Amino acid sequence: MPMLPLPYRAGKPMKKSLVFLSALLFSAVSLAATPWQNIRQPIAGSSQAIGGFANGCIVGAQSLPLNSPHYQVMRQDQRRYFGHPDLILFIQRLGMQVHNLGLGEVLIGDMGMAAGGRFSSGHASHQSGLDVDIWLQLPKQRWSEQMLLKPQPLDLVAADGKNVVARHWQPQIASLIKLAAKDEEVTRIFVNPAIKKQLCADAGSDRDWLHKVRPWFQHRAHMHVRLRCPAGSLECEDQSPPPPGDGCGAELNSWFLPKKPGAAPVKREPPPLPPSCQALLDKHLL
Ligand SMILES: [Zn+2]
Repeated sequence: MPMLPLPYRAGKPMKKSLVFLSALLFSAVSLAATPWQNIRQPIAGSSQAIGGFANGCIVGAQSLPLNSPHYQVMRQDQRRYFGHPDLILFIQRLGMQVHNLGLGEVLIGDMGMAAGGRFSSGHASHQSGLDVDIWLQLPKQRWSEQMLLKPQPLDLVAADGKNVVARHWQPQIASLIKLAAKDEEVTRIFVNPAIKKQLCADAGSDRDWLHKVRPWFQHRAHMHVRLRCPAGSLECEDQSPPPPGDGCGAELNSWFLPKKPGAAPVKREPPPLPPSCQALLDKHLL
């Protein structure tokens, strides 16, 4: 066995080297946990959303055009602005509608990474190029580059978790959510239960769209919009549609009962990747 260089045999330096080694190991583990962020460009090919929203990937993703008069893209340094062409078209469509109605500036948050896949932090889903976070504030003026890089979320939910903050809630926000929900390609929109409650109260007789708006944990400053599986994506796994009805009754109320509907989701080991996603990783991260 070769002799270790001196620092590794001495007391203190040895400890340091162990710390260093464990730091190396740790970073290797966290890289292995999400190799997807190492794929910087979309995988060439016809566009295919593969697998589930929370366990999938995408071939032939497109970048959302970053300069548009109809929306602004936040935190571009994160490079989470990729998605299936259907998602790009949806964002452009929504941005145009909001712009034409003069509701304010649409702020686009995370979509997916260049090849989709699991993030190191922040999301369980957004993996197959069909999810986008859109902030629930519509500034009257476009944000500066600096503001877009370090955006300040606006918490719409009161401290009691049961109501929206009246001074932050505006009819334009309800219009934004409604426009998104009425889009044919959209299957689900996740918002905080207090936000859904406000939408239910304000909706009047036009309520069909409300069933797509699903109460969920957090989502106090943004809505998470999810599209259906695109027609040509044969390996894409859709969710079953939300239950019928506007979802404003017992289901919504259950969120406000103590200890219901249960604790926050349990963290589980990620399931195995769909074979096509695993093959894609093997090929592109050699
Ligand atoms: Zn999201």
